[in-house]
This record gives sequence, structure tokens and C-alpha cells, in this order.
Amino acid sequence: MNTTDHTSDENDERAVTVAHDDVVLEVRDLSVTFPSDDGPLHAVRDVSYVLRRGEALGIVGESGSGKSVTSMAIMGLLPANAKVTGSASVLGEEIVGLTDAQISKVRGNRIAMIFQDPLTSLNPVYTVGYQIAEAVLAHRKVTKQAAMARALELLEIVGIPSPQQRLKQYPHELSGGMRQRVVIAIAMANEPDVIIADEPTTALDVTVQAQVLEALDRARQETGAALVLITHDLGVVAGQVERVGVMYGGRMVEMGPVEEVFYRPRMPYALGLLGSLP
Ligand code: ADP
Ligand code: MG
Repeated sequence: MNTTDHTSDENDERAVTVAHDDVVLEVRDLSVTFPSDDGPLHAVRDVSYVLRRGEALGIVGESGSGKSVTSMAIMGLLPANAKVTGSASVLGEEIVGLTDAQISKVRGNRIAMIFQDPLTSLNPVYTVGYQIAEAVLAHRKVTKQAAMARALELLEIVGIPSPQQRLKQYPHELSGGMRQRVVIAIAMANEPDVIIADEPTTALDVTVQAQVLEALDRARQETGAALVLITHDLGVVAGQVERVGVMYGGRMVEMGPVEEVFYRPRMPYALGLLGSLP
């Protein structure tokens, strides 16, 4: 990875390079506006953050604060009328402003996204085993049999009961929590450096939420992927992440270690939000 920092001292230069290598996702001054009858709607304003290798970062904020739009802009998934400025880079490579063909290579390879509704990510006409094996085959030169064996292993890692039987089932035959764990297994099969999970447990029963969070945690440990965990529910991030950012009105108004942001917030808004902490 190269660095644009100028320095005449060789040792300094090396230090800068090491620091940059540790960053898997860097978002800088990202802004998104949508056209509307009342003029442009500023959904995201100058959001910047970094995600380090293997780290888990939470992003919290009330509904409409810009959490999803920020992630969709990073993934190149916003509708064509959205105006995106600023930058986002994965392992030093710029991904904002790429063509559809270019960004589709990055998606599911370097960076995977998990949505609130697992059916968004699953194909209804293929079995669970087929879909995970396809993701394995996209990244590893192995036989179909070996890919299916890896699919079984991934289902075991995400803690699905009777994994052998699940391989042959279709998404609609599984419960919501199981489907979301299949989506996590597919994300792992893709061996991404970054997983962005946008409200991955919001649609699920409370009892199932813990299982899905555990599956995400194991996925992270198994693959070393860094995680951005987005939620409006502070209870979800509290036990899962080391650092947390708070979004409000399209801006990132807080960012820091969980204990600092949750228990000593700088912004009055964050204080109010955090009043709902369990
Ligand atoms: P969050 O995920 O934090 O709940 P979003 O990122 O989805 O919030 O939305 C941020 C703002 O952008 C909201 O005001 C929302 O109405 C607006 N918005 C999101 N998607 C679109 C879109 N496709 N067109 C116009 N406005 C949008
Ligand atoms: Mg959202």
C-alpha cells in the first residue's frame, strides 16, 4: 500500500505505512444528497471514520439519522439520483464512483453487507448448500465436493441446528434467525476484509437475536474480518464492539471507545439516546 504523506526521514515513512496498512476501511468526508421538491435532502454530511483490521465498530443512531445511506454509499448501492461526494477506500483502494462492474467485484469479495431482511441476500430458487458452495467456489479453487464440505463447516460455525439437513433446504424452509445465519455463512465464504451488518437482528425475536450476534462474532473470529455493526438498539452493540460512532441528522456526532461514548458522551443528543441503555 502506498502513502501520500511526505517525509524525508525513512523511519518516519515506515511508521506511516504501517499505520495505513492496519486500516481496512477508510471513509472520508462522505456526503449524500437526494433531490426533493423542497431542494436537496442532505441525508449524510461529511462522515469520516476508519475501521482497523479485525476490529468491531458499532454505529448507532435513531431512525433516519443516515446509518443505512452511509453504508449503501460505501457499497455503491444507492439509487442513481443520489449525489455522493467524498471517499471510501478498502485496503487503500477507492470504491466511491466506481462503475457497476468494478464495484460488484469489490462487493462480496473485499466487503460484504448483511441487511435487516435476510431474504434480500438469498436466492429463493437455490438450496442453502448450493448458495454457500457457490460463494466458496468464487474464492477457492476447490472441487464442488470440497466446497459443499466447507459449506457444512460454515453452517456449523454459525450454529445452525441439523446443518447437514439444512444444506438441502431452500431459504423459505428456514426460520428468520436461521436465514440470517445462512447469510452470515455466505459472507464468510466470500472471505471479505470488511462485513457491514445493517440492523442484522432488528427483524428477529429477542431470543434469536443473541444467536445471530454470536454467529457474527464467530464469523469474525474465524475469518478475521472487521465488522461495522449498525443498529438503533444500543443493547445490541454494547457487548459486541470495542468502538462506537453515533449518528445524528446525517452527521457522525460521536466516535470513540464504547465506555467513553456510552458513559461520558460529549453531545447532549448522545446523552439522551444513551438514556435508553439497558
Ligand atoms: P437510518 O438507516 O439511520 O434509519 P437512512 O440512512 O435510511 O436512516 O436515511 C437517512 C435519510 O435519508 C432519511 O431522511 C431518509 O428518509 C432519507 N433517504 C434514504 N433513502 C432515500 C432515498 N432513496 N431517496 C430519498 N431519501 C432517502
Ligand atoms: Mg437504516
